[in-house]
Amino acid sequence: MKCQPTHTPEDIDIPALREKYRVEREKRLNGEGQKQYFRPRSGALAEQMGDPYKPVVPREPLNEDLDVAILGGGFTGILSAVQLKKAGVTNFRNIEYAGDFGGVWYWNRYPGIQCDNESYCYMPLLEETGFVPSKRFADGTEIQAHCVRIAKQFGLYDRALFHTQVRALRWDDAIQRWHVTTDRGDSIRARFVVMAGGPLNRPKLPGIPGLQSFRGHVFHSARWDYDYTGGSWENPVLDKLADKRVAIVGTGATAIQAVPYLGKYAKQLYVLQRTPPSVDARPNPPTDPEWVKTLQPGWQKQRQENFHHGAMEGFRPDEPDMICDFWTEINRNVAAKLAAQGWPEVTPEALMGMREIEDYHVMERFRRRIDEIVEDKATADLLKPWFRFHCKRPLSSDTYYPTFNRPNVKLLDVSATKGVEALTADGFVHDGKEYPIDLLICASGFEVTSDLDLRWGIDEISGRDGASLYDAWADGYKTLHGVVGRGFPNQFFTGYIQGGLYATTVEQFNRQGYHIAYLISEALKRGITALEPTQEAQDAWVATMAPSTEFAKYLQSECPPSYLNNESGKFRYYLGEFYLAGFTAFEQLLREWRDSGKLEGLVVRK
Ligand code: NDP
Repeated sequence: MKCQPTHTPEDIDIPALREKYRVEREKRLNGEGQKQYFRPRSGALAEQMGDPYKPVVPREPLNEDLDVAILGGGFTGILSAVQLKKAGVTNFRNIEYAGDFGGVWYWNRYPGIQCDNESYCYMPLLEETGFVPSKRFADGTEIQAHCVRIAKQFGLYDRALFHTQVRALRWDDAIQRWHVTTDRGDSIRARFVVMAGGPLNRPKLPGIPGLQSFRGHVFHSARWDYDYTGGSWENPVLDKLADKRVAIVGTGATAIQAVPYLGKYAKQLYVLQRTPPSVDARPNPPTDPEWVKTLQPGWQKQRQENFHHGAMEGFRPDEPDMICDFWTEINRNVAAKLAAQGWPEVTPEALMGMREIEDYHVMERFRRRIDEIVEDKATADLLKPWFRFHCKRPLSSDTYYPTFNRPNVKLLDVSATKGVEALTADGFVHDGKEYPIDLLICASGFEVTSDLDLRWGIDEISGRDGASLYDAWADGYKTLHGVVGRGFPNQFFTGYIQGGLYATTVEQFNRQGYHIAYLISEALKRGITALEPTQEAQDAWVATMAPSTEFAKYLQSECPPSYLNNESGKFRYYLGEFYLAGFTAFEQLLREWRDSGKLEGLVVRK
């Protein structure tokens, strides 16, 4: 059946909502930015950031020359490696801090972990591996197993270095290679390095006064301690919490998946909320085998394209919405209105205006859904999100809101104190009262828009002439096409750095991997030992990004603080700067650039 537009509440007062959003945002501004988070350098909390899941196996340090060092073994690192193999490059290693492939899907094992946009788009290489996810929003275990599947199929295990943290990258102009040093004593001289760390890999803790004096148990959600809670990644029956008082800090994508399990098993659960998230319904049916039989070659790419239109660029005339969920709702409803008018020509500004109006209606639908589920009115009101759809990651769950109807679950609004007030030896303080707890879970997020050294965990990156990348990029990214930077030969960047922006994150990283593999394989074929952009080409590309920066600033000035906007600190938008003409246009630009074979805008040395 064709996906229909949704019925959203009509009786809303948009100017009043705009004002309410403004007031709620103002309340959240605390001027603290990234300073509000705590990054322990030593002690029990710092040690917890190691790998609790697999023991570190001793090995001899490596001393070798290598064509390519891929820094990371999550989806970005895996797909970069796959693309290199396809391009005929085999002398590479994935270097990964975790004990296996998987990245975020290795580290995050909290109860309830699932993909939060549909797996048929999100999970890469489905056609090449012949795998079909078991349900619409696959479980974390299934996604990590898919990482392993890809790594095995493409032979990535043979040379992968796990439990290895890169400490420094130093370009050596004499040999035109990067010296890669690690915490395992390795000394690797790599011709090329691919920065494939992914955007969400380093946990950060909330800087709650007294955190270190709390004598109970504490862990970050990305280092779940099943020994303490009971249950396992595969079977999260948290039976050891039956006599425990638990508090969870944060109400983001992680918390809303874990809270229903904590509410079910803990004796008492306190959810400490600063900004309420937006949470829609989450039908998650098993994959229909009959549907699978209908899939034709190229289906995944087509579906990702459709998702991209639905979630970002807008549907084309008469294009069906194959995804049909909250991610595509605004554009689906806008498309229905345009269809009713016979698809008139509309300016980008007019289209943005239509989306903004639809946004207010959709967010009101989200809020009214809470009233239908949560019995206590005061709690329901506290749970309502007051911001535009894309200000925080939109979420979905059928079990999050009902958890607040449980007698053992209490929602506490910590927004007045700009976060959890304090911890004591025995519990947390809220509104002047101490609440004794046994366990504190920090679902407080990751280093996403913080400084690059915090995000990557690499102490030193020095390029040509010893220049530090961190200094060179202190006031913003400087690249050509988002993949190469002046002064940093043979270093390739991935992620949200001055490239195209695609709705399916993992596929975006896959396409970046493709472009990087082209550059590396061409360099090896042509005997090029070093390549980097010319100053002119880089400046021109950075200038191309300016309109997207303006666009992002506009979002930043409207949204409450979060990792998306660098906690409203120094301007640094999560999605960086990107090619505002759209991903399709960006892809075409890169295709033509490659097809010309001229490596235009690059200086090469042989
Ligand atoms: P987030 O950064 O989204 O959330 C952190 C939470 O901690 C926020 O609610 C924040 O409040 C709160 N917080 C931080 N400090 C304090 C404090 N001092 N006092 C009170 N509250 C505090 O992290 P998540 O781990 O939830 O998610 C990160 C991202 O990872 C997601 O947006 C998503 O991209 C990805 N992810 C994807 C999943 C999937 O696909 N299934 C699942 C989980 C995560 P405030 O909002 O007020 O800042």
